[in-house]
Amino acid sequence: MELTTCPQCGGKQIQPEIIKDVVLNKPTIDYRCKVCGYHGTPLLLEKYEGIFQGIKPEVPGFIGPWAIHTRLDNGERKTLSVLWEDARDCIRSLGLKKGDRITVTVDREIWCIDKVTDAQ
Ligand SMILES: [Zn+2]
Repeated sequence: MELTTCPQCGGKQIQPEIIKDVVLNKPTIDYRCKVCGYHGTPLLLEKYEGIFQGIKPEVPGFIGPWAIHTRLDNGERKTLSVLWEDARDCIRSLGLKKGDRITVTVDREIWCIDKVTDAQ
């Protein structure tokens, strides 16, 4: 699943807006954020949800990059590769155990893991 978000505030209420390009004299599609008013190119994020399978160094014996393994509901496996050393801190602070349900939001530069709780 792809998520369109605002690069300025991270809001998801960024919507396409057709504007008339005065130079090219034709309509172009732009985006405006309803939360902060940002106007421009949105950030496209990939988001997936599945079962946390564990975290391992990508290269055995080296501290990072880390591979965070997730199994999706359709059986497909997804691996998030994370360079930062705080990957383990993130897993620890969420108290993630193998079998927990998580969502992963990612683009080339940022990543975020959230634990899915029953309340949601
Ligand atoms: Zn915004």
